[in-house]
Amino acid sequence: MTSVQSDIEIARAAAKKPIMEIGAALGIPADQLVPYGHDKAKVSADFIGSLSGRPDGKLILVTAVNPTPAGEGKTTTTVGLGDGLNRIGKRAIVCVREPSLGPCFGMKGGAAGGGYAQVVPMDDINLHFTGDFHAITAAHNLLSALIDNHLYWGNALGVDSRRVVWRRALDMNDRALRDMVCGLGGASNGFPRQTGFDITVASEIMAILCLASDLEDLERRLGDIIVAYRHDKSPVFARDLKADGAMTVLLKDAMQPNLVQTLENNPAFVHGGPFANIAHGCNSVVATRTALKLADYVVTEAGFGADLGAEKFFNIKCRKAGLKPAAAVIVATIRALKMNGGVAKADLGHENVDAVKAGCANLGRHIENVKQFGVPAIVAINHFSGDTDREIDAVRDYVARFGEEAIVCRHWEKGSAGIVDLAEKVVELAETGHAQFAPLYPDEMSLFGKMETVVKRIYRGAEAVAEPTVLDQLSQWEAAGYGHLPVCMAKTQYSFSTDPTALGAPNDHTVAIREVRLSAGAGFVVAITGQIMTMPGLPRTPAAETIHLDDRGQIEGLF
Ligand code: ADP
Ligand code: MG
Repeated sequence: MTSVQSDIEIARAAAKKPIMEIGAALGIPADQLVPYGHDKAKVSADFIGSLSGRPDGKLILVTAVNPTPAGEGKTTTTVGLGDGLNRIGKRAIVCVREPSLGPCFGMKGGAAGGGYAQVVPMDDINLHFTGDFHAITAAHNLLSALIDNHLYWGNALGVDSRRVVWRRALDMNDRALRDMVCGLGGASNGFPRQTGFDITVASEIMAILCLASDLEDLERRLGDIIVAYRHDKSPVFARDLKADGAMTVLLKDAMQPNLVQTLENNPAFVHGGPFANIAHGCNSVVATRTALKLADYVVTEAGFGADLGAEKFFNIKCRKAGLKPAAAVIVATIRALKMNGGVAKADLGHENVDAVKAGCANLGRHIENVKQFGVPAIVAINHFSGDTDREIDAVRDYVARFGEEAIVCRHWEKGSAGIVDLAEKVVELAETGHAQFAPLYPDEMSLFGKMETVVKRIYRGAEAVAEPTVLDQLSQWEAAGYGHLPVCMAKTQYSFSTDPTALGAPNDHTVAIREVRLSAGAGFVVAITGQIMTMPGLPRTPAAETIHLDDRGQIEGLF
């Protein structure tokens, strides 16, 4: 038996090319790349501006069945498919999210792909990278500081200090900061008030950076952020505090997409990484649009399963950015299907064709859902070493009943050589397919109507319900001119319903919209259907305990 190398060992052994060469192959002149060391570079805003007249390549979304706690390999498959398309002679760019630093020190597991389908330098990408998240943290906390400073110096705007909704941010898992009181220590430290910290990826600024089309749009959206309410409940905007200009300055470089490479030296943009519950969970619009100008194919991923990730990719990102996806790949793993078919995690190692068949109901519903958006779908079975032929055949047969194909992919084990079949099929679908993308609901529909539409058509619930206070809040926002916004559903990623234990394909459940939040700068209304954690904690034995530098200065223990 050959020993399996860890992700970081494979990544470290990569024969990377200088990043300027990767850029040159895309036609990016050297003076338009802003290098961060030898293997990372930002693409200049000027160059991006110069691309506007060019035609767009084809956009391929990678999404998945409802995940198990381990992740199903969306990022791995996105990277693998990018390499596979390049292998069959297409110019393809991968667009994925930047991982959050905090969680790397909690549970083991990176977010730069895995096995022989990774983007590199994976350790940098998972840690400080090009500093984008630090810039977002700084911009976020600048706004926080300006709010408390405004209260301190007399509160000319009449902010109700009990109704400050803008919190503070940090890219660290630190549960002790979730709820706190700031301004303690006497009159010279300001006015005490209750507040707390969110992890940086949950900051509205992260969502804004990922949806803004350029610096001007970024500044406008930052100004639109609602930071607090007055005693008469009227909103106070970041613009009222004159915060938008300075925040834009802090974010100027972070707005430029980061170019890196895959293990096979193909180009990848790794840029932006909003939460997939209270935000939309996709990489930046700027990176996706730039990639579409530079390549024939752009492969991108959306967070969680297709009920959350793909729905928001289509209804929020594509709607707002005018993107028209040509095809969607739905990643399924035998183990996730088995779990959706009722098998416990401890029993995943045994062949269980019946459980796979039962779990396929989950996959089938995602296929139908993706097709509701007018986007052709294909299933990728991300192959794990324990999968049996009979289990794989069960999935193939099931998917064939939908008139679709399920293709076994071994990119994790073999890189691009293991995913050629999928790459060819994606090209066939994108070139001969009849993608007719349309979002699921029109802008004009009421906010609650939009939530109901997602609940009924995507989650297959019987109804969406909400307390009168929630409905009143939505009406007030509609009256204030926010009715045209899309909705951003915050729901458990494990089930179509709001019950994380209801796996498979539950029907006719009721979805309670417990709370709504307006992200006026990002441009969506968040509908919260369960407990949503915006500041994670660390586990009993955090990965940080084993992360260290070895005697050669190499990182050990990370992934
Ligand atoms: P997602 O993007 O869906 O969260 P990732 O692509 O990040 O999932 O993969 C999650 C983890 O699973 C990674 O550590 C990756 O190395 C591992 N993984 C992915 N595909 C396979 C596979 N086919 N065999 C073994 N491990 C895999
Ligand atoms: Mg991922």
